[in-house]
Amino acid sequence: MLNIKNNALDIFHKPLIIERLHYFTYFHNYLIINDLTNNPKLGTRNPKLGTRNPKLGTRNLKLMQKNSMTKKIEIAIIGAGIVGLAHALSFARRGHQVRVFERNLQAVGASVRNFGMVWPIGQPAGKLFHRAMLSRQIWLEFAAETGIYANPCGSLLPFYTPEEQAVVEEFYQAKQPSGYQIDLLSPQSTLKQCELVNPKNLRGGLWSETEVIVDPREAIARLPIYLQAKYGVEFHFGKTVTAIQAPYLQVAGEQWQADKILICSGADFETLYPALFQANQLTKCKLQMLRTTAQTAHLNTALYGGLTLTHYNSFADCPSLPQLKQKFETEMPEYSKWGIHVMICQNGSQEWVIGDSHEYGLNPEPFDKTLVNQLILSYLQTFTQLPDFEIAQTWHGVYPKLFGKTDLLLQPEANVHIINGLGGAGMTLSFGLAEENYTIF
Ligand SMILES: Cc1cc2nc3c(=O)[nH]c(=O)nc-3n(C[C@H](O)[C@H](O)[C@H](O)COP(=O)(O)OP(=O)(O)OC[C@H]3O[C@@H](n4cnc5c(N)ncnc54)[C@H](O)[C@@H]3O)c2cc1C
Repeated sequence: MLNIKNNALDIFHKPLIIERLHYFTYFHNYLIINDLTNNPKLGTRNPKLGTRNPKLGTRNLKLMQKNSMTKKIEIAIIGAGIVGLAHALSFARRGHQVRVFERNLQAVGASVRNFGMVWPIGQPAGKLFHRAMLSRQIWLEFAAETGIYANPCGSLLPFYTPEEQAVVEEFYQAKQPSGYQIDLLSPQSTLKQCELVNPKNLRGGLWSETEVIVDPREAIARLPIYLQAKYGVEFHFGKTVTAIQAPYLQVAGEQWQADKILICSGADFETLYPALFQANQLTKCKLQMLRTTAQTAHLNTALYGGLTLTHYNSFADCPSLPQLKQKFETEMPEYSKWGIHVMICQNGSQEWVIGDSHEYGLNPEPFDKTLVNQLILSYLQTFTQLPDFEIAQTWHGVYPKLFGKTDLLLQPEANVHIINGLGGAGMTLSFGLAEENYTIF
């Protein structure tokens, strides 16, 4: 039975046409479209196609030639996480015909597991800050058109020690002329900015105007619907791309041909061009997160503590940062061990989203650590004064990490592009990167 809440379809001008649409369901009160026609018979792999080409690290597709069943398209995008969706938007709004292939029935990767922080203040001055600001603008445009939650609530770092204060003051002096919309606040102004800040030993605050909070679960569910309705992007959920040899793709037993293929496969380095991923020394990062029940106390901005100064590249060139890092490593070794820094924001359902930790390795442990969550919650208390709250959910996410780089763009074959390695900044950078990539690809 079709039961549509909130007139979710009314906002779109075109009817939904999603390949072999079989049923509708809801995900956080929004319509999700699931293609359940993943015929297992079609999904079996032709053993002849299963051998590997050691050079490219992809499957040997010598047998792949155009045949009467080959379906031709212009742009094929693999992965319906934020990177794939941002590229779908960038190409589709310039008039290209785009199809997105997603292995799962709805995206369940890093793009739905994150904070939803669009976080320009974390990006170094120059190209990356501007990329983040462009993404921010696109997020706000998308939100204005669809009504998804996107709160331009800014961010606030209360600081408590002379070492934190030194880094913040250096950052403020250096970055204010570079376009960052920041302010250095007295303790009184910090508390005025957010009454949930812990006043004890407070020395001041770093305010930034530019951060936006979205709800990733809502946004990543809504983007495909928006892209389909506004730009005719077609989505094939539940379809794994198992092999590529340009211009051909093998998708769940079907053969497709595309003028351009964009691979946005997130932390899956194993399926397509695995040797290339291996050669580029990507690793994976596992992060633990928590979410509270809906709260009556209103968190009017995103808050983060001093540990975060050691995390984002934008603070990396502050001369006092090594002393601060040293202090944390000496006084809080467990936080260094688990890569913990703590941030909190509020989503449209008045839930608080809290995180996170960073554990690196190609085979992330499937089990979460209670200790890590306890450490996160304990540090949260040092810079907040929150009424008692109940944790409703805990989970972890995994993203690809490339040390020393902010993205990985590879071209394994003509007209095939891999876009990966955005690390902990995919929500902040993907829309801007996709705009830049349109002119390059
Ligand atoms: C806990 C956590 C918190 C974070 N917080 C933030 C934040 O606040 N702000 C921020 O900017 N960033 C944040 N990030 C980072 C951000 O979430 C990632 O950078 C981003 O989601 C990566 O997007 P993606 O599209 O590359 O990957 P994914 O979201 O993982 O999407 C990849 C998709 O490709 C599909 N796929 C893979 N292989 C195939 C195939 N062969 N065929 C078909 N489909 C395939 C997968 O099923 C998946 O849906 C956070 C990440 C985590 C884990």
